[in-house]
Amino acid sequence: MAEILDGKELAKNIRKDLKVEVEKLKKKGIASKLAVIMVGDNSSSEVYVKNKSFACKKVGIDFEEFFLDKSATEQELLDLIETLNQDKSVNGILLQSPVPKHIDINKAFRTILPNKDVDGFHPMNVGNLVIGEDCFISCTPYGVMKLLEEYKIEIEGKNAVILGRSNIVGKPMVQCLLAQNATITVCHSKTKEIENIVKNADIVISAIGKPHFVTSKMIKQGAVVVDVGINRLEDGTIVGDVEYESVSQKASYITPVPGGVGPMTIAMLLQNVVKATKIQNKQ
Ligand code: NAP
Repeated sequence: MAEILDGKELAKNIRKDLKVEVEKLKKKGIASKLAVIMVGDNSSSEVYVKNKSFACKKVGIDFEEFFLDKSATEQELLDLIETLNQDKSVNGILLQSPVPKHIDINKAFRTILPNKDVDGFHPMNVGNLVIGEDCFISCTPYGVMKLLEEYKIEIEGKNAVILGRSNIVGKPMVQCLLAQNATITVCHSKTKEIENIVKNADIVISAIGKPHFVTSKMIKQGAVVVDVGINRLEDGTIVGDVEYESVSQKASYITPVPGGVGPMTIAMLLQNVVKATKIQNKQ
């Protein structure tokens, strides 16, 4: 039976440490603030933003939400980002995806100042991650790495298979694991014989958004299985991409959904906001 990679518990400990850091900064007269922009209404985004706001409050980070109507123009969004870039009281800027189709989200990400880009989506942060320079790392892959580190999972020389190649999870996950000397295969919707590829994996990271996609048949005995997926079933239940019950019989370590990668993503966002605050205040 696999040991659980308990993201909920680790995230709680990280928040505890961050709270102390935020208090220390406050004693020096430095407040920390995250600005979140939402464009249009989307019930999932609203839940995510509420969770982020709640987490910020817990550690003492100020939080402000900016809501633009779904009819807002791209220029209106860029103008808002520019205002927040100039606002010295704002340390981190997060643009909640998705945005309406008429807005070029990459253009918006490029407009966020790299040192306020706490999601790590600006090309400068993405590029610095690739070349191994200090940067803001996309929160989900960063959270996965922290979880693997906490449980002392050996990465060097291991075969890691990443399912999904999105800019926010799959691609930065490659760079994070590569930096730790794993050998990496990335699978996507055009990959053939995924099952045979996953069977060779010592570490499997699934981020495709399909419930029960990863079955125990695909998993090597003793593999480490990290489930990034968040899928809502018709009855409202939240599940990951991994068939948890059967896979946990074969894996050595596994993340539950919920309670695995999700809380780590938010914890890393908070960590990035504190890092941004320190950089901007030369601490
Ligand atoms: P995304 O942008 O939709 O990307 C999904 C990826 O999965 C794409 O690369 C796609 O391939 C691939 N894919 C889709 N169907 C596939 C199939 N049948 N076989 C192989 N690959 C397939 O999604 P995302 O934003 O990366 O998110 C992925 C999942 O993680 C979602 O469930 C999301 O809710 C969840 N998520 C969780 C967290 C967290 O904090 N836990 C954070 C972010 C996302 P193509 O590139 O070929 O289309």
